[in-house]
Amino acid sequence: MEIYSSHIGRLIEQLSRLPGIGPKSAQRLAFFIIRLPKEQVESLAGAILDAKENVHYCRECCTLTDGDLCPVCADTRRDHSTIMVVEDTRDMAAYEKTGKYDGVYHVLHGAISPMNGVGPEDIRMKELMTRLAKEDIKEVILATNSSLEGETTAMYLARLIRPTGIRVTRIASGVPVGGDLDNVDEVTLLRALEGRTDMGHG
Ligand code: ZN
Repeated sequence: MEIYSSHIGRLIEQLSRLPGIGPKSAQRLAFFIIRLPKEQVESLAGAILDAKENVHYCRECCTLTDGDLCPVCADTRRDHSTIMVVEDTRDMAAYEKTGKYDGVYHVLHGAISPMNGVGPEDIRMKELMTRLAKEDIKEVILATNSSLEGETTAMYLARLIRPTGIRVTRIASGVPVGGDLDNVDEVTLLRALEGRTDMGHG
């Protein structure tokens, strides 16, 4: 016999699929939502659907954006010959917040992780290589995280890009591990960027 109504059970199950939400948090959130006024629940559900329906991948850099091109790619004053490769849109936002980087980005939406079954074809790597082939790129800055997955991805990409003759650099380590570039302060990010080292030319 189910302790909760089947409706609450379903809500808890859906919430517990979200990253970082365990069964206990899912229960707490479910009961919180049930107690909210109906308009607030509608607005929450509406925001989720709206985001899903209206957010696109930028046709250049693959970041999440409202239009066809993100504001960075659409900005002609940026240096379009320097591409910083990051794992997700939040990492890009963190570097943008510093206001000191004037190149463009490429967002992979993940990192290679053999343990979790994530291979090069599961992230936006092909799109990057296509960009490198058709645009005049001078430097690719690998700014994936310093986690095992981030390092694996950087090494894989460096090996892939080197034959093209494009300069490949890696940001200095010292940025804390674990997908949380958005929590790193600007000084640390800029130091990582300025201290980047060559991973070799073609
Ligand atoms: Zn873009």
